[in-house]
Formats: sequence, C-alpha cells, structure tokens
Amino acid sequence: MLVAGFFAVTQVQAQTQEAIPKPPKMVPEMTEFWEPEIKVITPGNGTAAPSDAIILFDGKDLSKWKGKDGGDAKWQVKDGVMTVTKGTGDITTKQNFEDFQLHVEWSSPTEVVGKSQGRGNSGIFLQDRYEVQVLDNYNNRTYSNGQAGSIYKQSPPLVNAMRKPGEWNTYDILYTAPRFKENGTLIMPARVTVIHNGVVVQNNTELKGPTEYIGLPSYKAHGKAPLHLQDHGNPVRFRNIWLREL
Ligand code: MG
Repeated sequence: MLVAGFFAVTQVQAQTQEAIPKPPKMVPEMTEFWEPEIKVITPGNGTAAPSDAIILFDGKDLSKWKGKDGGDAKWQVKDGVMTVTKGTGDITTKQNFEDFQLHVEWSSPTEVVGKSQGRGNSGIFLQDRYEVQVLDNYNNRTYSNGQAGSIYKQSPPLVNAMRKPGEWNTYDILYTAPRFKENGTLIMPARVTVIHNGVVVQNNTELKGPTEYIGLPSYKAHGKAPLHLQDHGNPVRFRNIWLREL
C-alpha cells in the first residue's frame, strides 16, 4: 500500500509539471523593439534650429508674435535682433504650447543703467505664467531667487553663468507643463530645466505655481498657452528663438 501511495503522488507531481510550460530561454532579440521607427531630423549647426523646430524669431520680423491687446508686436527689429521697446508691452507668441524644448539668445544692454532688478530686466514666461528671469547679473547683486536663470521668486539658479553686458547669452529650456484633473485639481506640477550658456542652472525644478511679484504662488488649471517675453522697460535684445514641441 505504501509503495502504491508513493507512486500515485509522484504521478500527480509529474502531471502538474507538464501543465506549466517552461519559459523560453532569453535571447537578446526578445528585449528589442523596432516599431515605431524613430523620425529622422537634421540637427542645426551650433545654436541653429534643428529641422523640426518651430522658428519663433529668425531675425527678420515679429510675425509669430502679437503685442498688447492682441495687436501687432511693437518691439524694434533691426540687424537680425529684436529689442524690447519700452512702454510697448510684453509680446506673446500667436501659437500655444504644452511641453517643449526652447532655445533663446539674449543680451543685456551694452550701456549699464540701473542696479539690482532695474538693470537689463526682461523675462521669458513659459505658458504665459512661469517666468524664467532675464536680468543683467554681471557684477550686479539682487535677491538670489530673482536673478538671471531663476524661476522668478521661486528657485534661484545653481550658479551665476552671466556673460558681460552686450555679449550674447543662451538659454536652453526643457519644460514639462503641469497636468490637471477635469475638476481643476493639480495632478502634476510643471518642471523646468534651464541651461544658461551651456551650464545647468535649473535641474528639473518643480514649479510652485504661476510667477507672483507679491505673495505665494498657487496653481490654477490651464491648457496649452503661449510664451511671452517681458517689457520691463530695459532695452534687452533677443535673437534666434526656436522651440520644439515634445
Ligand atoms: Mg523679469
């Protein structure tokens, strides 16, 4: 009886093992995928726009921008450069964006006028709300979370990578828009990486909400939105502005 019982148990074990197929041996091809094929683009030389970029300013005109109250943008365009024209107001892209890579070149006025926030102030507002500060911080102290490369009044830059007044600075900005539920509550705050003259000054920084001059920021739900450049009354110059939607 004992022998027969032992035989019955081993038979059941053998059947169970047969029912579960052994996983196949892994080979390199099992973890490769080929579709979709990656789109081919042509990178730009130096800071020139790649072939899939939206050109927002190529030095010729402000046709991609609008001014105050939705009219024409009134900043001066001359010799391939746009210059903030005091009192004409901020300029805003006609197109709205969500997540993007943005390249902007800017120069503080050659003639140094004013100090702290009054010297070469402008700004790049991502989605119309979140300011990456533009300021002449070459030998010009101001509050740390208000200087060039800061997320204004939120996050100071990691270092001061300014070039001299009159020289060209580059910003390369990687931006992930905030996400909201249908009822308007925040799912995920915005994030931004800013590279100033090739130097990381914001590393995947979480934004606390829209830029506020006075008071604490707090998110309000929004969809796609434009970029805008700030008229802070100083003749800051811009050139070579392009954006890639991500
Ligand atoms: Mg500003």
